[in-house]
Amino acid sequence: RFITLEGGEGVGKSTQAKALAAALRARGLDVVETREPGGSDGAEAIRRLLLEGAVDRWNARAEALLFAAARADHVARTIRPAIEAGRWVVCDRFLDSSIAYQGGADGLGDEAIRTLHAIGSAGCLPDRTLLLDMPVFDAAFRQAEAGIANSDRFEKRDEAFHDRVAESFRRIAAQEPVRIRTINAQGSPQEVTARLIEALADLLP
Ligand code: C5P
Repeated sequence: RFITLEGGEGVGKSTQAKALAAALRARGLDVVETREPGGSDGAEAIRRLLLEGAVDRWNARAEALLFAAARADHVARTIRPAIEAGRWVVCDRFLDSSIAYQGGADGLGDEAIRTLHAIGSAGCLPDRTLLLDMPVFDAAFRQAEAGIANSDRFEKRDEAFHDRVAESFRRIAAQEPVRIRTINAQGSPQEVTARLIEALADLLP
């Protein structure tokens, strides 16, 4: 099974990806934890280029192609082999991040991003996507409080950008209500993990 976690910055995705993987392992499942951009040697190299590289501002289309190229390598080298071996894959961000950030917030449009995904990754889709949702203001506050403000070049994005990301995530969740489940990301980490497990109930053995 292929499960992805999505959401804007500061909603607790990375913490929840770890907690979810641990909860699935406790149920006896063989789980691979991975993340985007990254998750394979080639994709991690592209991640460094995107997040720490010498280029301060990419052309939006070039940037979308880099995210799609990283995902193509990640799917081919890490995700598909794991699924074929009968393992569970828990991935922190995937296609829906590209649709929300590059497609929605950067304005390239959903279709362009889906086309890149069709070319790069044969349209590989998660069995379930868990969208962690909380108001942008609360997520920013949590991030500041935890001292985990992004240190990459994407930190320069303003509040309006993050509002567009959140709005895009909500729009795509409404389009695919079976695959994408919106999870209230407020409350204790344990409460949120329990909600994630509940949203996977029909997939669990
Ligand atoms: O999830 P994480 O915070 O590690 O993501 C790294 C950065 O890459 C974030 O600033 C995120 O907004 C950005 N990103 C993006 N487009 C994607 C995936 C991630 O702009 N498709």
